[in-house]
Formats: sequence, C-alpha cells, structure tokens
Amino acid sequence: MAGDRYRLVVYGYPRGSTREQQTIDFITDLVCVLKDRYGIDLPISLLRGSADYPNFCSLLVEFLDSCREGPGYIDAMWVYYLAYVAKYPTPETVDAVRQFSQYDQDPSRRFDFSVLRPWLVDRILANPTAWGPPPLAQFLATENTQDLPGKRGQGDLWGTELPCYPVCTAIERNGQCESVYHAVLHLFGVEEGYDRHTKVTTPGCEKCWMQWVPTSGSGLCQTHQNELRAFLQRVKP
Ligand SMILES: [Zn+2]
Ligand SMILES: [Zn+2]
Repeated sequence: MAGDRYRLVVYGYPRGSTREQQTIDFITDLVCVLKDRYGIDLPISLLRGSADYPNFCSLLVEFLDSCREGPGYIDAMWVYYLAYVAKYPTPETVDAVRQFSQYDQDPSRRFDFSVLRPWLVDRILANPTAWGPPPLAQFLATENTQDLPGKRGQGDLWGTELPCYPVCTAIERNGQCESVYHAVLHLFGVEEGYDRHTKVTTPGCEKCWMQWVPTSGSGLCQTHQNELRAFLQRVKP
C-alpha cells in the first residue's frame, strides 16, 4: 500500500541528464540487496521529479542553473529551503526561511537569503498550487563534481546530505552505484563509517559502502545494518 512506503523524490541535473533514471535504478537495486542479503525491508516509493513534479522540477533546475552562475556551488540546505517554500507557499514560510538562515548555529551553513532568488520565490508565491506540493524527502543527482560542486570542497566530493527522512535532501555527484547507496542510507539514519577529519575507515567498516570511498565497499557492515534497522523501527513511513 502506498501509505506504508517511504516516499523519496529523485531529480536529475542538468536538464536532460540520465541521472534521474540511473539513480532510480540504483536505489531499486539497493532495496533488493538489503532484502536478499540482510533481510532488511526498506519499503520505498521512488517518485520521478521530472514526471511527478514537473513544475517544481523545472523551478529547481532553474535555481541550480542560477547557483552555477552565481555562487558557483550548491548546498543541500538551499535545495531543502526551496522545496519547503514550494510545499508551503506563503509569505510566512518565506519569512521563516529567512529567519532560519540568519540564525543557523553553523556559520558555514548560514546563507544569504538572496541565494534563493527573490524572483523565484515571488514566482512560487504567485502560483501557490502549481508545485505539487513536493515531498521534503528528496534526492538530487547531478552530472558531475565540476558542474555544480559543494561549498566545502573535498568534503562534498561525493555528495552532501541533510538527514534524515522525512525531511531530508541528498545531493549525489559521483554517479557510481556505491556512492548512491551511501547517500540514500544516510537519509535513513546510517552514519559515516570513517573519521570525519582523517577520513580513516572505522574498524569493521573496511568492506562497507559507508567508508569515505564508498566504491571500495561491497556491502553494509553489521554496525551500519543495525543503525538502519533501528531507524526503520523508529521512523515509520
Ligand atoms: Zn557520508
Ligand atoms: Zn559500515
């Protein structure tokens, strides 16, 4: 039943990219692997940004184009804010986002509200019923690291995530299945398998997708399986 499934919407960037379909295929594979190998049931409905939320998808692509030309990078938090305004398109929401951004505890995350482009925000408010509304669990797959990098350089090489479901945004830039698995698993409560400063793999996680180089992994270690199981117990669709 649709109501018993986690809903994640997948977008590809830039326009015409095959990454939307590729990412949907990879996540579908991941669900099978989790079930067959670990007996973990991740009931997930993958929505197609371009087909299920075409108006919001166009708006998002336009926003990303403007980020590429403007700041030259993208932050998962911005994509989340854009979806939030489109989901609840009122002046109060816009004010709330302005407040959140101003008072973010982490200075590196504090952002200039104008990044959201007032013309884009005006367009959302002018036609409030046009956007879906989009789910706040979203996965954005971009074509490559150079096209639209993350703010924090190397730390954002593979992708960035704003966990966890149901309010979450992943940006994945690498396009290899293990990197997509790593990003999706973060959205469902799975932590990093390496030291954030040194990038050294956590003991026991050497064959796992959650290490710094996810393509060195071929599965999910016991610790990370347990985190996923605990999350799925805690947060129901
Ligand atoms: Zn990670
Ligand atoms: Zn692991």
